[in-house]
Amino acid sequence: MARLYPTIGLEIHAELLTKSKVFCTCSAEFGGDPNSRCCPVCSGLPGTLPILNHTAVEYIVKAGYTMNCEISRFTKWDRKNYFYPDLPKAYQISQMPRPVCLNGHVDIKTSEGDKRIRINRIHLEEDAGKLVHDDYSKATLADYNRCGIPLIEIVTEPDFHSAEEVMAFIEKIRLLLKYAEVCDCKMEQGSLRCDVNISLAEKDAEKLGTRAEIKNLNSVKAVGRAIEYEIYRQTEILEAGGEVVQETRRFSDSTGETSTLRSKEDAHDYRYFPDPDIPPIIFTEEELEAIRESLPEMAEDRKNRYMNDYGFKEIDADTLIADKDICDFFENALKVYNNPKTVLNFMLGEFMRRINLGEMSMDNLEVTPEQVANLVKYGDTDKINKNNYKNIFKEMLETGKTPEAICDENDYWVKEDNDLLEKVIGEIIANNPGPVEQYRAGEQKVFGFFMGQANKALKGQATPNAIREMLEKKLKG
Ligand SMILES: [Zn+2]
Repeated sequence: MARLYPTIGLEIHAELLTKSKVFCTCSAEFGGDPNSRCCPVCSGLPGTLPILNHTAVEYIVKAGYTMNCEISRFTKWDRKNYFYPDLPKAYQISQMPRPVCLNGHVDIKTSEGDKRIRINRIHLEEDAGKLVHDDYSKATLADYNRCGIPLIEIVTEPDFHSAEEVMAFIEKIRLLLKYAEVCDCKMEQGSLRCDVNISLAEKDAEKLGTRAEIKNLNSVKAVGRAIEYEIYRQTEILEAGGEVVQETRRFSDSTGETSTLRSKEDAHDYRYFPDPDIPPIIFTEEELEAIRESLPEMAEDRKNRYMNDYGFKEIDADTLIADKDICDFFENALKVYNNPKTVLNFMLGEFMRRINLGEMSMDNLEVTPEQVANLVKYGDTDKINKNNYKNIFKEMLETGKTPEAICDENDYWVKEDNDLLEKVIGEIIANNPGPVEQYRAGEQKVFGFFMGQANKALKGQATPNAIREMLEKKLKG
């Protein structure tokens, strides 16, 4: 039997960042006490009338442009009927035959080179509520806060053939939606969720194999693991001469395995029909052009600007743009102190190190871009010794104090005090006759030892240059 080849397609759901829901004025923010953010419209009481939130429409058009889609000039709404306890109306307002966006594409980078993934469609719909299974009271509770939050569904063509490609694509979609400022893409909070369709067949087979769908994956890592497991599971079945069953499966993060959620027999007939309450949308060319022009600078454009205008290396530019919050912080710091290279060095060094250590997070940050800009400026202009960045930044994070206050309190400012420098270095030389002799005998590397000692003794009150000069002078004897 020839090697089996996986074919994968995705459906990605992304909640839009509008302030209010898509058909009422309830808050669309994440969280809140259960059922504190709903009204008769979004909880589906009879006789209520939904009114379309036009910002949600603008956002899906923006999303479509970032993915090179055609935008439908005429688009309308449909009712998708099904009964489930998280859907009090018993239907979801969605778009079946006429979605807002069609026929797009997104390019990704993989270890085997660049690849183009085709987007079949993106439509706008309303999110359902959330069911909370309470083990203590053995009950299932319904929270309708999420009902009616605007949701876009991005449907790809089955263009993926590995977990790596899918993971690269989701990361790219996150960048596009975040930089377009239409979704916060917090997978852990469910604002970006992914369904994976996967089947296996021989490489040049005319027909795709029977597919399984894995629902609601909520991290990029989970998507990768679920795909790897499905490839393994379906390969085992097919190689033993069996048949894959078409069904919906769930993935368990703890076991790393998928299991049956429901089989094809339960497949819904949604009985779509046009929603009579919401008028269709007809876009004019001017309206679409205005939305396209309101798109902020995207990640790829920022990257190119950094490389062309600032001379950043590609790897550094990629690291900076990979997280929009960090990249925005960088941009705001430059507004205060416009030295891209040294601000970048600080961001890629001390700043990201603290994030990776889990000591700070972009979600609740104690430091402002202005403070970081000033800190780097003091280092660049020899007001402070850069060796003290670490101490000062740590204290900024812990106390929320400004770099100025911290330098005042700890006496970190560089003194232009030649007498002090001369005295301290004189003492170091007097106390270390052995290394002095080694240095004078031509062992250049001992110089580093003296620099270290002087830095320690001066606690950053002199610049490395001033220390070096004084050391050279004194060591010559
Ligand atoms: Zn509402």
